[in-house]
Amino acid sequence: MKVAVLGTQASGKGTQSHILSVIMGVQTASVGELLRELQNEDSKRGHTAKIEMAKGAFVDDDIIMPLVKDWVSKHPEGWILDGFPRSVEQAKKCESFFKPDAVLYLEVPDEDSKKRISYRRLCSKCKTNYNLITQPPHSPNGTCDKCGGELVRRGDDTPELVEERLRHYHEVTEPLKEWFAARGKLVLVDARKGIAEVAHEAELKLEDLFHRKARARRLKLWGLIFLALAVVTFAVLTITGYILNS
Ligand code: AMP
Repeated sequence: MKVAVLGTQASGKGTQSHILSVIMGVQTASVGELLRELQNEDSKRGHTAKIEMAKGAFVDDDIIMPLVKDWVSKHPEGWILDGFPRSVEQAKKCESFFKPDAVLYLEVPDEDSKKRISYRRLCSKCKTNYNLITQPPHSPNGTCDKCGGELVRRGDDTPELVEERLRHYHEVTEPLKEWFAARGKLVLVDARKGIAEVAHEAELKLEDLFHRKARARRLKLWGLIFLALAVVTFAVLTITGYILNS
């Protein structure tokens, strides 16, 4: 099972990807996270990623494509990938190695997205995500529950960069809805509801899509069997008629 998770900023892509990965028993990764790890690499691509992300801009495809290709090739049994592709151009470029069975698209209005981002915190050590309202840390001093690290705001979560990322999202990422709908892969979910409700709806809609695809595959198979039988019957009748007439 291979699922790409897309959507508005702070629509819960990471949270829902983790829930789905547990339900489906496959690995998950976020391209944003892979890039944040890459920033620590003392290399040209690490420095470039840092500069582009600090501007709220997309990281160059020369960096993104090998990163995604490498990650998906390591998980041939299935995956959930959050944040890729982010443009129709990327979707076209990766068609040879990136073949999701479904694309889960989470949507929230811009105002909700901005509000959620203002409450978003990240552990400075282990990178676990928190939301001070919906997923606050349980530790009394407000540090990370997993490692005790300090919770900080992401560098690109400033109001100016959020505006820029939302503008870019509507212009470049949103057309992917139509792209994947045309390919029968789109699963659209209203992500304004609570985490559990969104997860439940996403699971039901994904199951429905997979069942419909399996049914279509079965029908196609029966169609082919029927056609083959018809051809064989026709051939046998023709040959028999020829023998009887001669
Ligand atoms: P995210 O954690 O998904 O909000 O992504 C953080 C940042 O990583 C984005 O603002 C982009 O700069 C970069 N990024 C993530 N995914 C992609 C992608 N598919 N293509 C280009 N840049 C990306």
